[in-house]
Amino acid sequence: MKEAETALTYILNCRRADLYLDADLRLNKQQAEVFSQVLLRRIKHEPLQYILGRSEFMGLDFKVNKNVLIPRPETEILVETAIKYMKLKKFPRILDLGTGSGCIGVSLSKMVIGSLVSASDISALALEVAKENSRRHSAKIKFLQGDLFAPLEKQGLLFDLIVSNPPYIAKKDFAGLAEELSFEPLLALQAGVDGLDLYRKIAENAADYLLPKGLLILELGFGQRSAVENLLSENGKFEIIETINDYNDIARVLVARKEV
Ligand code: GLN
Repeated sequence: MKEAETALTYILNCRRADLYLDADLRLNKQQAEVFSQVLLRRIKHEPLQYILGRSEFMGLDFKVNKNVLIPRPETEILVETAIKYMKLKKFPRILDLGTGSGCIGVSLSKMVIGSLVSASDISALALEVAKENSRRHSAKIKFLQGDLFAPLEKQGLLFDLIVSNPPYIAKKDFAGLAEELSFEPLLALQAGVDGLDLYRKIAENAADYLLPKGLLILELGFGQRSAVENLLSENGKFEIIETINDYNDIARVLVARKEV
């Protein structure tokens, strides 16, 4: 949907088709006022998803606010890849590392039958949103708060799959990006001078939390494919299985398997 359509279907509480089919559809005074407020905020580059407090991902409606990254269409490729690999597993144990809004964990919990999903985030405020999204979609997820694997250290949990869309933007690249990004949590976007800080930590520790032959499926930032592949092969515990390109032909998702 175009943004204007998204805003109007929200305000009129109708479907996209109704905007065109219902010849009598009008905004009343109050709705027109809401619409102009939406436009005034959008003109200042605030993302529409924050203004409306919602975002669609994998065909599901998620609550979002400024404490969480807005789900991106490319991240659906990450979820679809995870579904493909987990389809034939019985009761797969899945960890969504840095869950943010919970969009990845909730989608997997709904779409991988029998899955047991855990989701962690360093931000307590993000976890509040993730928990609400889990309730909204009647998902059953174990939520953990802390930095990356820290909250898992004493849990003794091992997973068939660890999936993550970590922050991956390099500090120096940040200034040149769309103004909309400045509304999103820096914590969910920026990762050190080269954007690889989180991948380094994940490559170092993920194997400790995976079952034998367990999978690690990561979203990649632009141009990061070989650097992340190197980090994973250097540590000797992973074999790279495949990378998947997004709609712009950018290597976006990497699948690796624990080999020890
Ligand atoms: N894909 C997001 C963007 O380019 C970044 C998300 C992330 O850092 N994981 O805006």
